Amino acid sequence: MLFHFVVNSRKPARRTKRTKRKLAHPKLPMQRQLNLRHEGKHFDLRVIFEQLNERYFRGRLRGYEVMWGRRRKHRPRDYFIFGTIQEQDRVIRIHPSLDQPFVPIWFLRYVLYHEMLHSVVPDEPLSRGRRRVHTEEFNRLERSFRGYHRARRWEEENLARFLR
Ligand SMILES: [Zn+2]
Repeated sequence: MLFHFVVNSRKPARRTKRTKRKLAHPKLPMQRQLNLRHEGKHFDLRVIFEQLNERYFRGRLRGYEVMWGRRRKHRPRDYFIFGTIQEQDRVIRIHPSLDQPFVPIWFLRYVLYHEMLHSVVPDEPLSRGRRRVHTEEFNRLERSFRGYHRARRWEEENLARFLR
């Protein structure tokens, strides 16, 4: 099953002023050459994944690969997929647009946490073979993420920067 973290842009997103921000993880020249799929220009997804796994899941997520998704030519117009988790293959992909200096690391953590949560919270059947993936249990646990409201606010205020 593939889960998406999708946000719609139906509501006009407010544009906010660009703020200068220091990089959370300045890269060393050695690391730059590795070019691993979990290592972006600004953020290393593996490091964030391991921290979240310890902090929120007691290290329960095993054998997962976490990587930046492929860059696309065009930015989407109506909706934006921040992350996906492919349960069978245990692959979590994060949209490469999040690997930018204006993205706070705590927002990236939140996106990754959301995908990781899908791997531990079972979905619920709806009618006609459909499934609810964002169950009450899922939403409750999601809100327990430290800085949840700050992350949701940031998402709302900055969505326009990811769309055309
Ligand atoms: Zn989701």
